[in-house]
Amino acid sequence: MKVLVPIKRVIDYNVKVRVKPDGTGVDLSGVKMAINPFDEIAVEEAVRLKEAGIASEVVVVSCGASVCQEQLRAALALGADRALLVEMEETHALQLEPLTVAKLLKAICAKENPRLVFLGKQAIDDDANQTGQMLAALLGWPQATFASKVVVKADEAEVVREIDGGLETLAIKLPAVITTDLRLNEPRFASLPNIMKAKKKPLEVIKAVELGVALAPRVVTLKVSEPPKRKAGVKLSSVDELIERLKNEAKVIG
Ligand code: AMP
Repeated sequence: MKVLVPIKRVIDYNVKVRVKPDGTGVDLSGVKMAINPFDEIAVEEAVRLKEAGIASEVVVVSCGASVCQEQLRAALALGADRALLVEMEETHALQLEPLTVAKLLKAICAKENPRLVFLGKQAIDDDANQTGQMLAALLGWPQATFASKVVVKADEAEVVREIDGGLETLAIKLPAVITTDLRLNEPRFASLPNIMKAKKKPLEVIKAVELGVALAPRVVTLKVSEPPKRKAGVKLSSVDELIERLKNEAKVIG
C-alpha cells in the first residue's frame, strides 16, 4: 500500500514571527524554516506503517518554491522513500491557498495512486485547517480528521479522533484521507546516517503549471498586524492592596 504525505514548509515553531513594517505579511528573511509539525507527525505515522509491513512505500510531496526541497530532504531523513516537489515561482508559493494545494494534490494522487493520504490537521502559519478536507472532497474519498490513533487494515482504517468531551472511533474504507492531531505519535529525530542516506533518495521535481491548476489566489490579504502589546504589570505590596485594586480599579470583584 502506497502512502502519500503532503508536507508544508513553514516558519519553525520556535521562531518569534515578525510582521513586515508595511503590514503586507510576515518577514521570512533569514528565518529558520521547518516541516509543519503536524506533517512531521504524518510522516512518522506513515513510516511506522512501513516498518510494520503495512505500507509498501512512503512518498512525501510539497507544493511550493524550490527551497521546499530542504523540507523534503528532511522528511526523507525521517524515513520516507521518495519525494515530489510541485514547483512554482516564489510569488505563487507565498500566496498559495488550501484549495489550490488540494487541487495540486488531487493531480498527484491521480499520478501516484496512493491508498492513503496523511496530511497535517493544519499548517501552523496560516492555521487554515482546510486542505485535507478539500482534498477528500475533490477525490470523493472518505476522510477522518484530527486522528489521535490510526489502525490500518487491508481495505479500511480505524481512526480515533479527539472531539469535544471525548473520543470518536470511525471506520473508513480505503482509499482515504486522514489528518493528524498532536497526540497521534511523537516523531523521531533524524540520525546522521539517515540524513546522509536521504541525500541519495529520489526527489522528482514536477512543474505546477504542468498539472493544469490555476495558481492565482482568490483571497486578498488586506493587512497583517502584530497582536496588541501587553501593558507592563505592577508589583503590589500586599493581598489587601490587590483586593482593593481589583475592586476599585479593575472593578472585577464587588
Ligand atoms: P492547511 O489546510 O493549510 O491548514 O494545511 C493542512 C495540511 O495540508 C498541512 O498540514 C499539510 O499536510 C498540507 N499542506 C498545506 N499546504 C501544503 C503545501 N504547500 N504543500 C504540501 N502540503 C501542504
